[in-house]
Amino acid sequence: MSISAASSLPDTDTLEVDSIVGLSDLKLEDTVKNQKGYLTERWRNPIQVPVDTLNPISKDSLDRFVRMERRRVRDSVRQELNKLPKHVYFTFDDGPLIGSSAIDSIAKAKNIKINVFLVGRHANISKRLKRDFQRYKDNALVECYNHSYTHAGNRFTTFYSNPVSAYEDFEKNELDLELTHKIVRLPGRNIWIYDDVRRIDLKSGASTADMLYTNGYKIYGWDVEWRIHGASGIPVQPVNEIYTRIRNYMDNKSSMEPNNVVLLMHDDMFQSKKGQQLLSSLIDTIQTTTDYKFEFIRDYPFRY
Ligand SMILES: [Zn+2]
Repeated sequence: MSISAASSLPDTDTLEVDSIVGLSDLKLEDTVKNQKGYLTERWRNPIQVPVDTLNPISKDSLDRFVRMERRRVRDSVRQELNKLPKHVYFTFDDGPLIGSSAIDSIAKAKNIKINVFLVGRHANISKRLKRDFQRYKDNALVECYNHSYTHAGNRFTTFYSNPVSAYEDFEKNELDLELTHKIVRLPGRNIWIYDDVRRIDLKSGASTADMLYTNGYKIYGWDVEWRIHGASGIPVQPVNEIYTRIRNYMDNKSSMEPNNVVLLMHDDMFQSKKGQQLLSSLIDTIQTTTDYKFEFIRDYPFRY
C-alpha cells in the first residue's frame, strides 16, 4: 500500500517534488536573487499534501509518506543552506552593569558587532554605569535596544499582568535612553514577534508583547543561553560546550531561523577577568574555526 499510496498522490504534489529536485541544478545566486526566503520557507514547510478525495489513502500510508518526504526535502534544503552565509548574534542583557565596559572593550578589540538590551534604571544607579552606557552608545560596533526601564522589578508575572503599565515601562526606557530602534527583548520571557513569526514561551507576557508589536516594535528572544557566575567567573557551561551548542544549532538548522543563531548572555557575567577571558576565547574560537558573521539584531533574520 505504501508505494501505491505515494504514486496515487495527484499531480500538484509531483510538481512540488520536481521543483525541489531541480533545485540543485539552479545556480545558487539565482535561487537567492529570485526567491528570497525560498529555502527558509522550504525548511519550515517541507511538503504540502493535497487532499485527494478520488483516491483516498490510509492515514498510516499518508503519515509515512509525509515523514519520508519531509526528511528528503529537509536534507536537500540543509545542504543548500550550508553553502550560504551563517550569522551569529551576540546579545547582552540587563546592562549597563559592572561588566559592560569590558564587553565594550572586547567588541572593539575583536572588531565584532554586538547587541545590548538595556535597562534604563541601571544607567541611573551611578556615574560609572552612566558612563558605561555612554560608551556603548559611542561604540559603532554596539547597538542598543530596549529591555524595559525597571526589568519588571524581577516580578515578571505581576509586571505582565498589567500590559498597559508594562508597555509604558518600555516606552519610558526608550525615551530615557534615547533608543533609536524599536527593538525589544522582554525581561524573563523568551518571546519572539516579528515579520511572520509569533512564538510565545509563557502566556504571561503575550499581551504586552502583542501591544508592543502593534505599536511598531519587534520582539526578539534567543536560541542559546550562556551562563557564567558573575563574581567568580566560573562558567555554568564551559566555552567548548557553548561553542558546540551554537555550531549544532547552525548545522542542524534548529534555531528560530535557519543559518541565524542568537546567543543570550548577561552583562554581569563579565565583571571578572576570568569571565572576560572566556568571552574572548569564545569569540576567538568562532573566528578561527567558522565563517560565521557577527551581526546586529536589527538585520535579523537573513533569509535565503
Ligand atoms: Zn533581563
